[in-house]
Amino acid sequence: MATFSLRDALLYDHLADDQVRCNLCAHRCVIKDSGRGICRVRENHEGRLYTRVYGNLIAQNVDPIEKKPLYHFYPGSMAYSIATPGCNFRCEWCQNWQISQMPRLMTLPDRRRLQPEAIVESALATGSASIAYTYTEPTIFFEYSFDVSKLAHEAGVKNVYVSNGFMTPEMIDLYHPWLDAANVDIKAFKDETYRKLMGGRLEPVLESCRRLKAAGVWLEVTTLIVPGVNDDPEELQALAAFIYDDLGPETPWHLSRFYPQYKMTAKNPTEQAILTETKAMGEEMGLDYIYIGNVAGVYATRCKNCGQDLIVRSGYQTRIVGLDAEGTCTQCGVRLDGVGIRGG
Ligand code: SF4
Repeated sequence: MATFSLRDALLYDHLADDQVRCNLCAHRCVIKDSGRGICRVRENHEGRLYTRVYGNLIAQNVDPIEKKPLYHFYPGSMAYSIATPGCNFRCEWCQNWQISQMPRLMTLPDRRRLQPEAIVESALATGSASIAYTYTEPTIFFEYSFDVSKLAHEAGVKNVYVSNGFMTPEMIDLYHPWLDAANVDIKAFKDETYRKLMGGRLEPVLESCRRLKAAGVWLEVTTLIVPGVNDDPEELQALAAFIYDDLGPETPWHLSRFYPQYKMTAKNPTEQAILTETKAMGEEMGLDYIYIGNVAGVYATRCKNCGQDLIVRSGYQTRIVGLDAEGTCTQCGVRLDGVGIRGG
């Protein structure tokens, strides 16, 4: 382990007067000498861009892959889950705001840097099938996740991003050979909501989803339904249509229940009826796999052809019940969409 320090950043352009343009996320910040970008984790020194969070871990846990959530990617496996501080958004309902907003709120603690090899060793030692870059926005710690990802693949471990999707095409083009799966939040389907409540924009997120899918990365989408923010049925219908038309009906859609958080403590939790109605609407439109999240209960992945239960989940307990060793339905023989699906 080495002492925490600045580390050269990737993906930026030199501009006049020692300014730089960061091309990692869709903000494309133009940063003056001695300045920082919107995320507050990338800073310019004399025309050279650095990251402040390389190896500066703020969280490490072994989580069920279902917690990401990814339901069609090595179901029942564990994901070694890591984060460094920071985010390029500032969502008012963020459940991890203490670490996602840390670079904006306080001086970053001067920790010791954990080298990528140590993460892969921990993943192997804990029997994790994948490493998940999660909790905060992994785009913001791209250089670190990229180095960990390359070593992970050499060791036979998969890589998973849990992201707001506000990345640039250049980043996806550079990274996708090492990225096996992603869960991308589509947090609303109105650009105005992205601008006002998150400090982002909608279209770059949609473009990332299209690009990840086209690159062969297994993609699942999550929408946290927040009362009064994105629960208009027409908006949710438009979002479902985007998933169907642009990403494909086999793309799982996770509808998560909101609980009061951060700057939105005055709101009530999402009514369960809205979640079930949205699920029914999406299924009516032809989406194959829609899941309700943040609500206790037993939930199944059903065969899209015959409706047989294939995988049953209660909390984070996962049982594969209707699949053969090739991952096809034991009743009708149609294959379950996903990666790493096996019977048992
Ligand atoms: S990662 Fe995004 S927010 Fe951070 S400096 Fe680069 S463009 Fe700006």
